[in-house]
Amino acid sequence: MSGSPSDAVRQDLERSIEGEVRFDQVSRALYSTDASVYQIEPLGVVLPRSPDDVVHAVRIAGRHGVSITARGGGTSQAGQAIGPGLQLDTSKYLNHVLELNVAERWAWIEPGVVLDELNAPLRTDGLRFAPDISTASRATVGGMIANNSSGARSVLYGKTIDHVLELKVVLADGSLAHFRPLGSAEIDAASAGSRLDAACYRTVRELAGACKEEIERRFPKVLRRVGGYNLDELVDTPTPGKPFNLAKLIVGSEGTLGLVVAAKINLVPLPAAKAVLTIEFEDLLDALAATPL
Ligand SMILES: Cc1cc2nc3c(=O)[nH]c(=O)nc-3n(C[C@H](O)[C@H](O)[C@H](O)COP(=O)(O)OP(=O)(O)OC[C@H]3O[C@@H](n4cnc5c(N)ncnc54)[C@H](O)[C@@H]3O)c2cc1C
Repeated sequence: MSGSPSDAVRQDLERSIEGEVRFDQVSRALYSTDASVYQIEPLGVVLPRSPDDVVHAVRIAGRHGVSITARGGGTSQAGQAIGPGLQLDTSKYLNHVLELNVAERWAWIEPGVVLDELNAPLRTDGLRFAPDISTASRATVGGMIANNSSGARSVLYGKTIDHVLELKVVLADGSLAHFRPLGSAEIDAASAGSRLDAACYRTVRELAGACKEEIERRFPKVLRRVGGYNLDELVDTPTPGKPFNLAKLIVGSEGTLGLVVAAKINLVPLPAAKAVLTIEFEDLLDALAATPL
């Protein structure tokens, strides 16, 4: 008797993946919710141990026509961390700091590192990753990147996009792309050829050029806009001081453009002092009017 389509996916994954493959009912139930009101039971769960595992999972899912939803801490509130296909949870194994450069204030990290666990050891060097979301004890930097998370002090520090320098991303065909700031000559080289990342460079450059006016007119000019793809980051680039960086498009794409397997992030100095300031308003509308959007 032949097995079900679900058995075929599981067997392929078990043959190729070093990490865990869980298709049992309890695991599927556990991964069927996030912090939203939605509930979708996945076909199965993959806990990758390496970027290669992610590559294999993407290729196998593609062969079987199954969707993949990446997952960090599952603290999203709009259902973007759950899905009917494979759940790919980076938080158990892909959670290391790969390289730290204190002098230049950056780190290469894996996506499943939890924000508080990243920042705790950085304290000794007087550094931190700036976006300070209130779910910092659970949320992963991979989830923050995909959601372009902001946090209470984003008026001062900006959003996650302002602190992502480079990304290594597994694309839909299972190829590994390294998106980083590029100048003109480098973009031409990166756009050449038949690889999927080259097609991404060509398509995005064309869109950012052809739709420049529409993007400038219609993208809301508010500080904490995190909805939609960040095409505005690529308009009029590269220019001096503003390179063309496809990593900026991956930020905020909620896992729909590729799966992040490593990120080079900017670190900021810890504040020299902290204080709480209370400002009183006559009513709520006055307070809202004084708040930067
Ligand atoms: C009580 C509460 C308070 C919150 N406060 C804030 C706040 O102050 N500021 C704020 O911005 N947000 C806030 N959030 C939202 C949420 O916590 C953040 O967006 C957080 O960064 C999500 O991280 P996560 O690891 O839980 O991601 P998940 O919820 O697991 O995933 C988020 C998205 O990222 C994708 N993803 C995860 N890993 C990868 C990867 N490796 N590659 C590609 N895509 C990936 C997922 O598919 C999903 O689309 C809050 C949520 C709650 C419940």
